[in-house]
Amino acid sequence: MIPDYIPNWIGGEERPAEGGRTLDKFDPATGSRLCAVADSSARDVQEAIAAARSAQPAWAALPAPDRGAALLELALAMRRHRLDIAAMVARETGKSPKDALGETDGAISLGLFFSGEGQRLYGRTLQSGVPHKYGGTIRQPVGVAGLIVAANTPIANIAWKVFPALVCGNAAILKMAEDTPGTGWIFGRMARESGLPDGVLNIVQGVGAVSGAALVESPDVGVVSFTGSTAVGRRIAEVCGRRLARVSLELGGKNPLVVCDDADLDRAVHWSVLSAFSNAGQRCASASRIIVFAPVYEAFRERLLAATDRLSVGPTDADDLGPVINRRQLEAMCAALDRARDQGARIPRGGSRLDDPAHAAGFYMAPTVYENAAMDAEISQKELFGPIVGLYPARDFDEALALANATPYGLTAAIHSASVHRCALFAQRVRAGVVNANAGTYGSEPHCPFGGFGQSGNGSREPGTEALDVYSELKAVYTIVDAAKV
Ligand code: NAD
Repeated sequence: MIPDYIPNWIGGEERPAEGGRTLDKFDPATGSRLCAVADSSARDVQEAIAAARSAQPAWAALPAPDRGAALLELALAMRRHRLDIAAMVARETGKSPKDALGETDGAISLGLFFSGEGQRLYGRTLQSGVPHKYGGTIRQPVGVAGLIVAANTPIANIAWKVFPALVCGNAAILKMAEDTPGTGWIFGRMARESGLPDGVLNIVQGVGAVSGAALVESPDVGVVSFTGSTAVGRRIAEVCGRRLARVSLELGGKNPLVVCDDADLDRAVHWSVLSAFSNAGQRCASASRIIVFAPVYEAFRERLLAATDRLSVGPTDADDLGPVINRRQLEAMCAALDRARDQGARIPRGGSRLDDPAHAAGFYMAPTVYENAAMDAEISQKELFGPIVGLYPARDFDEALALANATPYGLTAAIHSASVHRCALFAQRVRAGVVNANAGTYGSEPHCPFGGFGQSGNGSREPGTEALDVYSELKAVYTIVDAAKV
């Protein structure tokens, strides 16, 4: 089902990388090599940009409802092949088939939503102070969009960017993450099956610092939309800033979940476990800091540790979480935990990779709970992107809020309390782009905006109709009516 070799998809053709260069892709669940992947050069990326440039004017000239109709065909092709897409996502990420299917269905919903936006690409009417002058705004495409995605939820990440970029009339180059090339490949096949015109969507594989960087640097790419780490996002913003290209950054998080003394502790534990450990903690919206009111700290801790002990780790539908995406990430997490231990953190659960016979070959991190770390310690400030969560006691609401806001990030947050007043005040005062009361830190919907404060992004919001602002230029158009001729 996964091919031995994954090529690029440029101008409606599958093409190898220049010189036949390849990268190896490994199976996170077993550590064995899965396939070879096109290791694209800057020249390969230039070819993809040229294909997009040549296809874009005709695509933009289609009425927006027709673009929407073409994208509906793509969403429907995805729906026909939802099991194949989910199988690919599960195979190359190591997540369970059921989680992969949930992610795939979310991506299809997003495609359906943005197809409909073709019929609603609204502007506004403007009220001029000049007599007989009528005005309004219209949306126009930016041109060529460079879309760079992370590996954690590959088909969702693709849909979040491709559908809004294309419905606005842009042509796109999608740069897949090194660890999830197959999901891009299968998506290209769906695009072909759906009849999307050649060159409107191009998919390049390869190393971020080479093929991703070439996309970001190209003067022919008018808008760059990036989902990934804050460190890479900052570099991309610098390059785009120099050439004044539009850029949308969906970056990392160190998201807090606050448990108050009046919380339903079982519900708080349920959501904490899901927020910290589902998808092996590889969500930008994972909870990585659980801040607990002191009077219920011990009771919450005991239940959280018991729930952590019940988790099953593996790649099947009977498991709660799978492996992390690659060896590098696994080793980086273990090293961060070693440093935290040296600085006095206690680690009552997990703390290392799983090395029993069922897990030793794969990239499995034990679900990890640590405590006794200062909020300004490295482990409390740096996103680890794995199944690792810290417990932090707080005296009262004010201290819990201050701790929640004590990182440079601001992506998502949650509070558990029976008090609607506490929940509402927290929602007002926490520095986060998404806040949930009595739920988890994650959970986005296709028609709702998502994005973060601070170093979690640069202020843009995708998806929802807000994503249309990322991918279109707004033009104000005025007409003066000659009243004398009426
Ligand atoms: P990463 O930043 O290493 O890589 C992301 C993508 O950028 C990959 O496709 C990679 O090839 C590419 N890339 C790397 N260097 C590049 C460069 N110099 N120029 C252009 N492209 C480059 O991130 P990762 O570790 O793969 O993903 C995890 C990160 O993504 C976490 O920080 C997570 O929070 C974040 N994320 C954010 C959201 C969100 O919506 N805010 C969603 C998912 C993941």
